[in-house]
Amino acid sequence: MELVSADASGRPHFTAYLSKYLQENVLPLKVTFKGVHPGSRDAGPCTIVIRLSWQHLGLNSPVSFEPGDLLGVLPENSNDMVSKLLKRLHLDSNFTSFVVQRLMIQKKTLTMEGPREEWVPYENLPPATIYEWFKKFLDITTPPTQLLLSEVSTYATNQTEKENLNLLSQDVGVYEQWKHSNRPTILSFLEAFPSLSIPPEAIISKIPLMKPRYYSVSSCLSMSLPTSVDLIVGVVKFTTEDGSSRNGLCSMYLNEAAVGTIVNAFFRRFVSVIFTVFYYKVSREGRFSSMKILQGLFLLE
Ligand SMILES: Cc1cc2nc3c(=O)[nH]c(=O)nc-3n(C[C@H](O)[C@H](O)[C@H](O)COP(=O)(O)OP(=O)(O)OC[C@H]3O[C@@H](n4cnc5c(N)ncnc54)[C@H](O)[C@@H]3O)c2cc1C
Repeated sequence: MELVSADASGRPHFTAYLSKYLQENVLPLKVTFKGVHPGSRDAGPCTIVIRLSWQHLGLNSPVSFEPGDLLGVLPENSNDMVSKLLKRLHLDSNFTSFVVQRLMIQKKTLTMEGPREEWVPYENLPPATIYEWFKKFLDITTPPTQLLLSEVSTYATNQTEKENLNLLSQDVGVYEQWKHSNRPTILSFLEAFPSLSIPPEAIISKIPLMKPRYYSVSSCLSMSLPTSVDLIVGVVKFTTEDGSSRNGLCSMYLNEAAVGTIVNAFFRRFVSVIFTVFYYKVSREGRFSSMKILQGLFLLE
């Protein structure tokens, strides 16, 4: 990870980079309608209907899709969470004056001399300010992995915190229980371990990159050349065992996206295979005695 002063000439074209990163044709769709789904309950979790349009793009070829196809949405983290995280990492005063210039990834290759590891530049994401990087490219709501806990434990200055981090990173049972009851985000984890003083480049390279979430297209195809798509989204909200409230990243992002917001998304044809496996049990005498059926569904990439 390289951090350099922001003097980048010209803004990077995010959508082109996102297409490269996701290996999909990413479109910057505009929210043109949002409402509460009629079936939604008054209180508690709600379901929304959201319309995303590509009319403003003036595309040369029509976008084709069918009901049941999927829209992959690349969510963004909330401004509130990003600001708090940057503050915790002591980056709040200069988050616009640093850009993440290049992400380096560890590549493992098998050679005649044995396995070789080298750091190579990852070219599929654009240089961006550290604020944009945390907002758009890092999944900071996912619980830290045991590997992350193990690697950052060296930065704990408090002995008890260091020991707790070592326990969490080494004992799967303790880790799973902690993950289940706290559902920690990167921010809540850092708040729970205040003595951790981690250089930003050390933590950025350990947080997973943002992943898209899929939503079934629920538009009625009455128009021959549609210019928008409707989604029905259940907004994920829950309380952890320790009483903290958590939101689903993408469903809350869509819930809070005002009309006019640009949402990066791509279409994916829904191709699935239903499989059925029969198990026959044959007795010693060679007679058929029982049968089990296993059924499942694959979503083809
Ligand atoms: C093929 C396909 C089609 C889909 N179509 C739709 C659709 O049409 N509409 C729709 O709304 N969704 C749909 N989904 C689900 C959608 O993709 C997302 O998974 C969903 O919106 C949650 O994403 P999120 O980013 O909001 O939550 P995330 O930030 O990804 O968090 C979800 C995680 O929160 C945790 N969690 C959730 N509730 C609780 C709880 N009560 N207690 C503890 N932990 C909890 C779980 O670990 C869960 O994995 C579809 C998924 C697939 C695979």
